[in-house]
Order: sequence, then structure tokens, then C-alpha cells
Amino acid sequence: MAGGYMGNGSAKILFVDLSNGEIKEELFGEEILRKYIGGYGLAAKIMYDRQKPGVDPLGPENMLGFLTGPLTGTPAVIGSRYVVVGKSPLTGTWGDANSGGEFGPNLKFSGYDGVFFTGISKKPVYLFIENGKAELKDADWLWGKDTNETEDLLKEKHGKKTNVACIGPSGEKLSLISCVINDKGRAAGRSGLGAVMGSKKLKALAVLGDMKVPLADEQRTMALRRAYINTISGFGDVLKKYGTAGITAGASESGDAPVKNWSDAGSEVFPTATKISDDAVIAYQEKRYACWRCPIGCGGHVKVVSGPFASTTHKPEYETLGSYGTMCLNDNIESIIKLNEICNKMGLDTISAGCTIAFAIECYENGIITKEDTDGIELKWGNAEAIVAMTEKLAKREGFGDILADGAKIAADKIGKGAGQYAVHVAGQEVPMHDPKFTHGLTVTYLIDATPARHTQGGELITPGSGMDLTKPEPRVYTGRAKLQRELMNLMHIVNVAGLCMFGYSSMPVDSLPEFMSSVTGWDYSLDECQITGERIGTLRHVFNLREGHNPLEREFSGRIIGRPPLTRGPLKDVSIDKETMIKEYLELVDWDQKTAVPSKSALSRLGLDFVIGDLYK
Ligand code: SF4
Repeated sequence: MAGGYMGNGSAKILFVDLSNGEIKEELFGEEILRKYIGGYGLAAKIMYDRQKPGVDPLGPENMLGFLTGPLTGTPAVIGSRYVVVGKSPLTGTWGDANSGGEFGPNLKFSGYDGVFFTGISKKPVYLFIENGKAELKDADWLWGKDTNETEDLLKEKHGKKTNVACIGPSGEKLSLISCVINDKGRAAGRSGLGAVMGSKKLKALAVLGDMKVPLADEQRTMALRRAYINTISGFGDVLKKYGTAGITAGASESGDAPVKNWSDAGSEVFPTATKISDDAVIAYQEKRYACWRCPIGCGGHVKVVSGPFASTTHKPEYETLGSYGTMCLNDNIESIIKLNEICNKMGLDTISAGCTIAFAIECYENGIITKEDTDGIELKWGNAEAIVAMTEKLAKREGFGDILADGAKIAADKIGKGAGQYAVHVAGQEVPMHDPKFTHGLTVTYLIDATPARHTQGGELITPGSGMDLTKPEPRVYTGRAKLQRELMNLMHIVNVAGLCMFGYSSMPVDSLPEFMSSVTGWDYSLDECQITGERIGTLRHVFNLREGHNPLEREFSGRIIGRPPLTRGPLKDVSIDKETMIKEYLELVDWDQKTAVPSKSALSRLGLDFVIGDLYK
């Protein structure tokens, strides 16, 4: 009987049909769990089995899931995560996005490992779960409220201990770059899943409970916790002091952070990155913030007391400081805190929102759009007031903001006049703040992972146990990398589906993952099993896309990301990635077809995925 799950050895999942209000629960036993673990692994199996290909991501048939992993809400260090899954309306592919805070563990304490929604409600609703009882409730009174107000109102109604994941007005207005927010600023940011929630008229999940997560070996789990907390070092020390804000200046200088909408890199073009990094950010910190029982506590609450950018919200993450800072040549930290507040309250992904504004600025600077298009806003590089004003419009779909509200690619299509050359994206999704010209393995991750342009699903950016080296670009070597790439992607899949935080894991020894998996579930877990299971999960998500007719090798992939054309100055000068070689070697290793990306029958059999063969080989 596996520990770590809420169904007496099985994962207990709720299925809610919003069209007719029906709520059912199902148990998923050890045979499935050992193969797919939880989170987006279990979700991939459930959605592959139950969701037809070709459904409209904003239609009733798209399944929207909120799932935890077996380590979520347990003493396993950094077991704070949950994931939101669904077919992405932004990319048309598999979509998932994970978040920390308190919500994931508390979903389990309310009695369930996860919840799936289908259908569309006739009127706004929220799901309230308390100690194993779930009920759909009217949310007319919450519709239109921002995420802070929504959380406050639900706590007022159901008690202070209630935890909330919800959408803001941007999700209600079906912005394809909207997200799900919990804890007033922890974001399941990517893939546009806030719009899926909005399309279903589902405003929030509110959970309350004190049920315990069963542990196979409680004593050993507690002993491991004590031991591993003492090993946190390296990147973990930076996180403790600054959070991810601690890397902005270094990343901007070294070339890791894209600058000026990916058209440049380094301190020559953005010499003031220290103004939006480490000490400059925590100067506004009122108190530190930790996700559920995390000993690192990389978060914080920040406040700008007065002035045009007066605001109070979570400390901006590196990704936000990049998208609204280096990408827009904006060194005004108060404006970035304000932008973080807007995105958190309205429910927007800060990566996509900031990158879309950077795209619009480049269009403006090149005369593709003018003040007449932008409702009088002077969208110039580094114009903090304009960036805030346009983000407010984007969040509300007002005026030109309506053009931008679905991300850079769709905006470029609407604008025309050559705007597409400035829309930097992979398959419609804006690219995170880590440049493949700096960390070459990200080329493969951004292009091949089932969620296009994702940095948290593996690759060589974060190496467990040794953190990140953001001081210098990698040597320009493009061959012989596939083995490490595959191993790291597989491992990160298990980190994600187990419910761990990848930042915390990158600060601890690699063995902490299989050790906690063993002590919590009772399985004899090993790094070898992480590899095969991670590959199975990654492959099933990929096959989900293939069945949708989506071949990642045919994804739109902006040349700027990989140095085509190469930059003419800075730390990444003349780097032009040999994407073809990297992809070819990776496909050879995993035994996927070089043109169609279809895994061979033997690769699928080796991973225990024989049930998909009939769909791929007709
Ligand atoms: S390291 Fe940071 S993001 Fe990760 S669990 Fe801890 S506080 Fe949360």
C-alpha cells in the first residue's frame, strides 16, 4: 500500500462535470501510480485515456486538472508543489504549469490528491472542498474580483485556514497568457491555463482540511528531513538571501538573461541591471516568505510605499525581473514591483506578459505601430510609466491591450506589417529568461518538451546537486550532449510529478529524491527508476501532442533564440547554435523518428507504453 496518497494507498481524484454539476471520486491504485507517480505524470495517463484528440482547449471537453504529487504535503524537504494541467489554448499542445505556496499541500489535507474539471458551467462557480466533501458553489459574487479580493472573500466565508487557487479578471476574459494564482501571488503561470479555467466559468478552488498524508515510514522520513535540511547550500544560499532575484544582474551581464526582446545581450546594452537585482530588490522587502514548510524561504513580500508605482505584492522572481526588466530595458525596480502586483492580481503569466510588452515596444520603436495604435502611450524602451500603463490595458483587454492579451504571436498576426519578426516565441508561447546561446541544452528543451518553451522541465539549466553556473556562457560544443540532456529531463520530470520544488532540489544532493520517494511511498526507489519513469512520463506527454497532430520538429521557433542571425556584440557575440545536430543526436538516443518525431515501437514497449502504439501506427 503506497504512502503519500490520500486514498488509503491509492490516489484519490475528484472528477467534476461543470455542465451538469456531477461530482465523482475515483481511486488510482499502485499499478498506475508506480508508473506515473502523480502531478502531470498521472494527469498525462488520465487525459490520454479519457480526452479525445482535437478538442477545443476552451471548449467543454478539455479537461482541466489540479494535481499534487506523493511528496506534496509531507516532511520531504520542499514538498510544496501542485500542478495545473490541460490542453493549452496558447500553443494547442499539452499544457502544464506548477506552483508552490500553501495550496498544494492543503489540497491534500482536504482529502484529495487532485481534481479534474470538464464541461462548462452555466454561471460562475467555485469548488469548495472540506475534509473529503466537495461542493460546487455560486461564484457570481466573486466574478470580476481580482485574485487578492477573491482569496480574502473566500477566507472570510469559509475561515482563515482556507486555501485558494483562482483566476483574476484576465482569466475571466480568456486572455491566452492568463494563469492560475494561489496564495495571492504564487503562479501556475505558463500554458494559458487561466483561460481554460475562465472558459469553464470556474473562478476558484477553495480547500480546507486537516487530514494527514500517510507516510510508509514516518521515522525515516523525518530523519531524512533533518539530514537533508543540513545539506542545503550553493544555490540554496543565494535563494535564502535574495530569492531568484539574486541572479538578475549576473545573468544579465553574462548573457543568460535575454536583453531588449532577445535582440542583444550583456552590460553594453543594459548597464544598469544591478538596479533590478539582489540588494536593490530586497530593499523593498517587508518580510521573507516561504512555501509550505520550506527551510529555504526564497520568497518575500515587498512594498513600494508611495509614488506612481505604489504597490504591495510578492517579491518579483528572476523571470519577472527579466521579462519586464532586461527585455524592456527597464531598470526601474519600483515599476517592476508594480507590474508584478498587476499580473498577480489580474492573473497573468509575468513571463508572457512582459515579453509581449517587449515585443510591442520593438514594434513601436520601428514604426510598425504608433501612438495612434497604442491609445496615446509612448511605448519606448525603458519607459516604465508606459510599460505599466500598457500592462494594465493588456490585463483588462482594453484598447490596444486587447491586441496584446493573447501573447506576442497572436498580436503580431493581428498587427501584420512585419510585426512577426519581433514576436519571439516557440509554438506561440513566449520564451523564458534563459538564453540557449548561453545554456545550449535549452535549445532541445524549448523545442522538444511537450510544453513548448519551458525551462522547468529539464535541460541543462539546473543540475541537481550542483545548482546553476550563470557566470559564463558554455563553450560552443553542440555534439555529444544528448545523454546528459535526456538524463536531466527524465530526472526533472520526477522532481515535478513527485511535488518537489526544483529550486530546492537543485540545492540538495541528487539522492534526496529517491530516498524521500522510498520513505514516503514505501517503494524501494532508485535513481534508475527515476530515469525510466521520467522518460515514460515525458514520452506520454509527447505522444499526447503527436495524437493532436502536433510535431515538435515543425514548431515555429524564433531564430533570435538560437542566434540566427548571431548577435554582433556582447558575451554571446557570434554564437549560432547548431540546433540540427543537437536535435538529431537527441532523437537518435531516444529512438524517435528524425522527421515525424514518432517514437519507435520498441522505444514505446521499453517504456511500457504499448497502449499508444495503435494510435501512432495505423
Ligand atoms: S525554494 Fe522557494 S520556491 Fe522552492 S519551495 Fe522553497 S520557498 Fe518555495
